[in-house]
Amino acid sequence: MKLKGLSAIVTGSTSGIGLSIATELAKEGCNVMINGHRAAGEGTEQQRKSLEAYGVKCVYFSADLGNPEEIRAMVKAAESAFGQVDILVNNAGIQFTARTEEFPDDKWNAIIATDLSASFYAIKAVLPGMQQRDFGRIINIASAHGLVASVHKVAYVSAKHGMLGMTKVVAIENAEQNITCNAVCPGWVDTPLVRKQIQDRAKENGTTEQEEEMKLVGEKQPNKRFSSPEAISKAVLYFADPDNRYTTGTHLSVDGGWTSW
Ligand code: NAD
Repeated sequence: MKLKGLSAIVTGSTSGIGLSIATELAKEGCNVMINGHRAAGEGTEQQRKSLEAYGVKCVYFSADLGNPEEIRAMVKAAESAFGQVDILVNNAGIQFTARTEEFPDDKWNAIIATDLSASFYAIKAVLPGMQQRDFGRIINIASAHGLVASVHKVAYVSAKHGMLGMTKVVAIENAEQNITCNAVCPGWVDTPLVRKQIQDRAKENGTTEQEEEMKLVGEKQPNKRFSSPEAISKAVLYFADPDNRYTTGTHLSVDGGWTSW
């Protein structure tokens, strides 16, 4: 229970990696605000209750992270629900694939807003409280695409590279305090975000989802298998550890060897 009494916001935590991160934080005794852009409903209430089963307080906050006002409202709501925000996990992300010359402007804007700018607005909103209390752990969920490129992903690759730059700036600006900022760079993780890419590729190539799954992972990752969302959460727990104040401004790859190949 390393995180007992601490409080966290995990953005985009109604599915996939974010939900797993919220769960692992709760298991360590951390209060959690979960977030998605849908209004609260039966599904979010069920998720909230399943996290509270770990003996922590859990609040769902609906916010469209494309909107800075809603991000500021989310941080304010977390501060008033828990008293403070000790850990911020910028996890929400979206994807769209097309060649650069065909990439729709609205998709570019949406990806930059959700996958890059939202983290800036959330970090900006939590930092004053962290600085006042001399404690904070900021963890950005970037990607192997924060380090290397793939075709057809101009917006995503730009956003994730930007996220790693942002991580370093926030880290050095706060390095004299007990505030760290780090990133996790996952390779392929089996979540709804990736499932859609596999289905699209199977449709385009007239193949099965299973064939595309093998091709997709195999062409990038030497270990030829998806990571579980829990593997990403373990890296988050490493950075969230209150004892770990010396690791800052860096990233941890959980990518089955992708960026070493
Ligand atoms: P996912 O689609 O399962 O989850 C994304 C979450 O973000 C959802 O909860 C969704 O509701 C939320 N979200 C999206 N747009 C939002 C918005 N405007 N406002 C609020 N919430 C919004 O995806 P995932 O695979 O779990 O991805 C989580 C993070 O991990 C993303 O940043 C993604 O880029 C990164 N990542 C994923 C993989 C992978 O293989 N799945 C690999 C590398 C990095």
